[in-house]
Amino acid sequence: MATSIDGSMMRRLNKTAVFRTIYEGSPISRAEIASSLGMNKATASSLVDELIAEHFVMELGYGESRGGRKPMMLDLNKTSGYSIGIDVQITHITAALYDLSGTILHLHRDALYVRPDASAKEMLVQQLESVIRRTMALAPPSAHGIIGVGIAFPGMVNSSTGQIHYLPNLEVHDWSVHRDLVARLQIPIFVDNDANCGALAERQQRGLKQLAFINAGIGIGVGIIANGELYRGQDGISGEFGHTTIAAMGLRCSCGSYGCWEQYASERALLRYLEEGGTCHIPPFPSANFLEECVLRADAGDPHYIRAFQTVGQHIGYGLSNVINGLNPGYVIVGGNLASAARHIMNEVENVVSYRAVSVNRNVQIVIADPSTVVSGAASLVISSMLLVDVDSLADIRSV
Ligand SMILES: [Zn+2]
Repeated sequence: MATSIDGSMMRRLNKTAVFRTIYEGSPISRAEIASSLGMNKATASSLVDELIAEHFVMELGYGESRGGRKPMMLDLNKTSGYSIGIDVQITHITAALYDLSGTILHLHRDALYVRPDASAKEMLVQQLESVIRRTMALAPPSAHGIIGVGIAFPGMVNSSTGQIHYLPNLEVHDWSVHRDLVARLQIPIFVDNDANCGALAERQQRGLKQLAFINAGIGIGVGIIANGELYRGQDGISGEFGHTTIAAMGLRCSCGSYGCWEQYASERALLRYLEEGGTCHIPPFPSANFLEECVLRADAGDPHYIRAFQTVGQHIGYGLSNVINGLNPGYVIVGGNLASAARHIMNEVENVVSYRAVSVNRNVQIVIADPSTVVSGAASLVISSMLLVDVDSLADIRSV
């Protein structure tokens, strides 16, 4: 489709395309960039010069000749700016600092203190501001400083409006978190659901076109990559499988419904299975160390903890079979806090999926995510914003 566009806009879009080509294909020469984008060599070269002057791109040295002069090879200037990823969970916040190539420089985890009442938004925004400012201070001096902050939230978030619809376990409703944080920090802020961030990170790391990322902690949610793209749904809140019913007459859920998956397959469910099993001296819940301490006790062979983890694993398996049967993802990555208990839950998960998934869905691969997957996906929201315009749409624009 042809689009009407002025010269300066076209130059900006072309520059973004050149930057993305270097980002994805470095080391690369000016001639290779022009050829890959179908762009005039002089235009490509002048846009490269602009990116070098702005410190986003650097010259690496001469590459191999292919018959003529040796080409000057180009690379991303990965330390010209930094991004921050934040993963907000009910009991803790993880913050990480990345350079432009996505290499992690620093990661820390703080306990989160938010009461699920009218003060929740103010408490959350204050702690977010504090952890972001502390992480910003860790960035080395650079041309562009902190380019932006990406934040993953455990609930229903519209990434295009920056609006939180609902964080079920924190009782936060209808909040323009983007507006409030930009007002306090004066830097670009990007927000998304935590499972979506996990799915985006896994798509990039594994190069998969179809996958489901399960984020299992105090709640449970799913990020879906379908045909290479994140599936968002009509209102940007897809993947709330944690609130699909797995027990028709089941337990009441924080969302107001009954029998939701996350009531049976989460840290909260683990606590209940421990209580029902008559376990003594259960670690405080909710707390940032609850799961860690439960894993230690299961590792030490305590049968109450081993059994409770197995029951959680079974119920993750029931809901996951629904996800797999509905989406046929081929690849499932289990992340979130409960992934740290993988050795106590995954046998049960795989066992249940092996008979509840139908037909070829039983061939699904189920793997465990790296603990920093969600925070890395949150930081990638910042880089994605720099690479927004795709080359195909640019080709349409250039054909005007
Ligand atoms: Zn629910």
